[in-house]
Amino acid sequence: MIPFNKPHLTGKETYYINDAVATGKISGNGKYTKMCQVFFQNKYKFNKCLLTTSCTDALEMAAILLNIEAGDEVIMPSYTFVSTANAFVLRGANIIFADSRPDHPGIDESTIEKLITKRTKAIILVHYAGVSCDMDKVMELANKHNLVVIEDAAQAIDSFFTGKDGIKRALGSIGHLGAFSFHETKNIISGEGGMLTINDTQFVERSEIIWEKGTNRSAFFRGEVDKYGWVDIGSSFLPSDIIAAFLWAQIENLESIQEKRLHIWNRYYEGLKNWAKENEIELPVIPDFATNNAHMFYLVMNSEIQRDSILNKLRDQRIHPVFHYLSLHKSPFYREHYRGDELVNSDNYSDRLVRLPLFYDLQNKEVDLIIKTLQQVFDS
Ligand SMILES: *Cc1c(COP(=O)(O)O)cnc(C)c1O
Repeated sequence: MIPFNKPHLTGKETYYINDAVATGKISGNGKYTKMCQVFFQNKYKFNKCLLTTSCTDALEMAAILLNIEAGDEVIMPSYTFVSTANAFVLRGANIIFADSRPDHPGIDESTIEKLITKRTKAIILVHYAGVSCDMDKVMELANKHNLVVIEDAAQAIDSFFTGKDGIKRALGSIGHLGAFSFHETKNIISGEGGMLTINDTQFVERSEIIWEKGTNRSAFFRGEVDKYGWVDIGSSFLPSDIIAAFLWAQIENLESIQEKRLHIWNRYYEGLKNWAKENEIELPVIPDFATNNAHMFYLVMNSEIQRDSILNKLRDQRIHPVFHYLSLHKSPFYREHYRGDELVNSDNYSDRLVRLPLFYDLQNKEVDLIIKTLQQVFDS
């Protein structure tokens, strides 16, 4: 059987975990946490980053940092994971859902401005499949209306955007805040895990306090204050150093992981592009301003019936593709609250998108088998 995902272990995870245990400091903000944070800050030019127990937590920290209150509005795509919305719903925000682009599941940037009102606080973007939104357009709009931009970069580690100024910037470093995931389904993993990036300096000091349960403990350990106490709201957002030790082993292999994933992605693309064109099936589009971090390989089929039939028939052949998000504006939890327009592109991706298996240990011959089987079951 070929599963959809198989977590990849690089070999040194338990070695670094043993080391963390041996140092006797396995709570948060230890040696490996700092090593991971410094690595990401240097490599991707984040102003500051904090490891968190999940991307969900990083998004919740972002909502607290923004002082989101009941009645505030935040704009985000409907085609996303529940955490993008839940983090803000927890603070009482009204979610204003935007549609996806016709050529990509990411937010349709051209539809954002008409959703902005006096109550809008932030725009939350999702770099779907690790492919960048048009950050020039979004940042311009945010500046014009004085809004905060948060990048849900859960899928977007090691992916970039090149703006009109010709500068290539890492995703998660462009908005005021960014949130990453190291869940086992992402490119680099720690089981559960995440990271908040803080690019706007106005949020730096408070981010550390919220991370440390509302205390100024980090400043205390740096010797900046002579006692620490309760100074703000917060929660337990920082992971154990055991998690960071695991992540460090992944970070050391980031390049080879990305290379291998890209190889698999390109093999799918080359193997499917002519067939897709003949059958009017859409393959992923990477705009000129974006890079491909090979987080995901997906197809957009002609109809929901065809998509479901392909999923079933491939599973009968012991290959496990999966569909993806159900539009959040139609979810059992939120549909009563949603007062907006129809979001046809979002619904289309809910109905017609298929994700193929993509993980480090997937062999060339398995990729070829998936391609061949897909074409066979499509014809049958
Ligand atoms: C995976 C994912 C999340 C949640 O990440 P966790 O680390 O599991 O909390 C949020 N948003 C998007 C777009 C994701 O893909």
